Amino acid sequence: MLTIAVSKGRIYEEALPLLAEAGIVPIDDPKTCRKLILQTTRDDVQLVIIRATDVPTFVEYGAADLGIAGKDVLLEHGAEGLYEPLDLGIACCRLMTATRKNAPPITGRVRVATKFVKIAERYFASLGIQAEIIKLYGSMELAPLVGLADCIVDLVDTGNTLKANDMEPRDLIMNISSRLVVNKAAMKMKNAAIAELLAQFERTLAKRV
Ligand code: AMP
Repeated sequence: MLTIAVSKGRIYEEALPLLAEAGIVPIDDPKTCRKLILQTTRDDVQLVIIRATDVPTFVEYGAADLGIAGKDVLLEHGAEGLYEPLDLGIACCRLMTATRKNAPPITGRVRVATKFVKIAERYFASLGIQAEIIKLYGSMELAPLVGLADCIVDLVDTGNTLKANDMEPRDLIMNISSRLVVNKAAMKMKNAAIAELLAQFERTLAKRV
């Protein structure tokens, strides 16, 4: 049996067609059923649909053999215990800094609100900018509006969330997409099954280009 941990929400939705090409179609819909382990049309594959930030943990400890998670989450988690063999090219977006519209340029020390603490620390250090990072778990856009921070580091897709909150994107930190990750021990112990799945995903991705 192979267990694949998938980030719930946008990544799960965009992973479904890719999984379907490998014959993996969940039998239940996680939106309407409360099951945490989803059986699929393949007897040898099950899915666990979990919070994005938990995917690397499940795969690292071998609770799942494979995982699908955003590069942002993998960088923030520090994915040393995992193989990352494939860029799935789904749930693409940009990790950016953003400020209030027409905010003055940042000089001197900057207060940054984000859930990506490690990435933000590394980014501002690489620019030689002194940054005080304030960890938030959501609604980052609120922070500059109420004077909690000068800027935020967050994922931007259409830019609509920023616009709706009188903010604007500033600098691109990196382009983000979802990656397939594999537990290191599983890669050895279940090599045939995992290699076959990787080859199938690669064939599907090659058709998409
Ligand atoms: P948008 O308004 O389209 O720019 O989307 C921005 C909001 O969606 C922010 O709250 C982001 O944290 C979230 N978001 C955008 N893209 C992604 C993604 N690929 N994965 C997870 N969250 C995302």
